[in-house]
Amino acid sequence: MEYDLIVVGMGPSAVFLAYELIQLNDCKNVLLIDQGKPVEKRVCPAIKVGKCVGCKPYCNITCGFSGAGAFSDGKLNSYHLSSRDKDGSIYLGGNDGGYFKKYMTEDEIYDLLNYTDNVYLKFGADEHLYGLDHIEEIKALQEKASKQNLNLVSYPIRHLGTEKAHILYGKLEEYLKENGINLLFETEVKDLIINDNKVSGVKIHDLKTDEYSEIYGKKVVLAVGRKGASWLSEICTKHNIETKIGSVDIGIRYELPDKIMSKINKYMYEGKFIGRPLPYRDKVRTFCQNPSGFVSREVYDNGLTLVNGHSYKDKKSTNTNLAILVSHHFTYPFDKPIEYGENVAQNLNRLAGNDIMVQRLGDIYRGRRTWMEDLENNSVKPTLKGAVPGDLTYGLGYRTMRDILEFIRDVDNVVEGFANPDNLLYGPEIKFYSNEVVLDKDFMTSVDGLYSIGDGGGLTTGLMMASCAGVKMARILKNKS
Ligand SMILES: Cc1cc2nc3c(=O)[nH]c(=O)nc-3n(C[C@H](O)[C@H](O)[C@H](O)COP(=O)(O)OP(=O)(O)OC[C@H]3O[C@@H](n4cnc5c(N)ncnc54)[C@H](O)[C@@H]3O)c2cc1C
Repeated sequence: MEYDLIVVGMGPSAVFLAYELIQLNDCKNVLLIDQGKPVEKRVCPAIKVGKCVGCKPYCNITCGFSGAGAFSDGKLNSYHLSSRDKDGSIYLGGNDGGYFKKYMTEDEIYDLLNYTDNVYLKFGADEHLYGLDHIEEIKALQEKASKQNLNLVSYPIRHLGTEKAHILYGKLEEYLKENGINLLFETEVKDLIINDNKVSGVKIHDLKTDEYSEIYGKKVVLAVGRKGASWLSEICTKHNIETKIGSVDIGIRYELPDKIMSKINKYMYEGKFIGRPLPYRDKVRTFCQNPSGFVSREVYDNGLTLVNGHSYKDKKSTNTNLAILVSHHFTYPFDKPIEYGENVAQNLNRLAGNDIMVQRLGDIYRGRRTWMEDLENNSVKPTLKGAVPGDLTYGLGYRTMRDILEFIRDVDNVVEGFANPDNLLYGPEIKFYSNEVVLDKDFMTSVDGLYSIGDGGGLTTGLMMASCAGVKMARILKNKS
């Protein structure tokens, strides 16, 4: 049997691609494949046992229906509903939305965001938008930030909450099934079938039966997320799929009391600080802020354990967590940003007995590691149970560490207490994107019939943009059929 379309991955980009194909009446012969499970079967044991048990064969936090979206905090950045920046452009969040802006006009992006936001609302997203009720207070904070050479970006945010995101994506899964989209779970795509620079299918491994086979398709869309970034890089090398050297964001997850972040949490829900601290002037930014949230783990195929964070709609802690990320752009002759990031993660994991490491800020300044009894007596209690106290400076490069510490000092001048010694740093937090997959205006790679969307190839860097990329992909495919 030959499918009209095979999609590798079932993250938000793939889900919204399928959703839009249904709207366009073009969904008869479509197959989505994911190595993980249906959303209702995705359970992270760490929530109960307080410790990552290394689910085999794949991490339930990042794999399965709705990909990394299922356990995400579900912050939908509704940029389109904010007034545009002074220069008239839309800020797309994360690393400014990845490469998305290269492929579309601002007006197109604006319309796509509007449309996609409405789909989220239709499937139960909270109507409330954070960031619109305290405009004057936000402006005052922005002015304070600019005096520290920091940009504090503000735009409205919807917050699904981890448990509600699960329910919302569950409804979408039902909708796709009811409308004839074929979903193949617990199946790993090992390779692509490419002849004469044209794709004709995928080679799969059924994880339940341990059988290997081939599935044929006229077109293949790769929507493998950050989880599949490393695999995607290998596939691109193997099949000579054109790429450009990409970047890797390396940093830490920062945890501090809600009361320190109270203004930002109340006015904006998430404050996006962006700075270029001296002496390197690398781009450093806060990302994925979770008021009253929980620090979490995500385990990657190669066994790497990375830190992340999320927050529930109902269950609350008394801490806020957020990522502080440093963008690493390497230049010739080094072209392996993923390997660089993996090495950093591997070192830190090893130093922490294959787990997440945690250290108090004050201990870094004092030049000492953090011990378990330090944490027990610390005023900020870690919300990630089982994180191992240690010394992050053994694993993070000098440049990365210095960038983070300078940035924390700068933000402290805007948010008093941001640099308190009891605040906690967890590592490693790393955002892998494959080398940028070179795409034409239709998101097609240099191989005929092979497309790439979502976070994996670096096209997008968040839920909303990944979902928009899926909608756009569906429309492109419809126009081509
Ligand atoms: C804990 C956490 C919190 C987050 N919070 C937010 C937030 O609040 N706001 C926000 O905007 N973003 C957030 N994110 C990021 C967001 O989840 C991602 O940007 C988004 O899910 C990207 O969508 P995607 O479709 O590109 O890929 P993903 O969601 O990563 O999905 C990719 C899928 O592809 C599958 N896959 C990969 N390779 C293969 C293969 N070879 N064979 C078969 N299947 C494969 C994976 O199993 C996975 O299910 C969070 C992420 C995490 C982990």
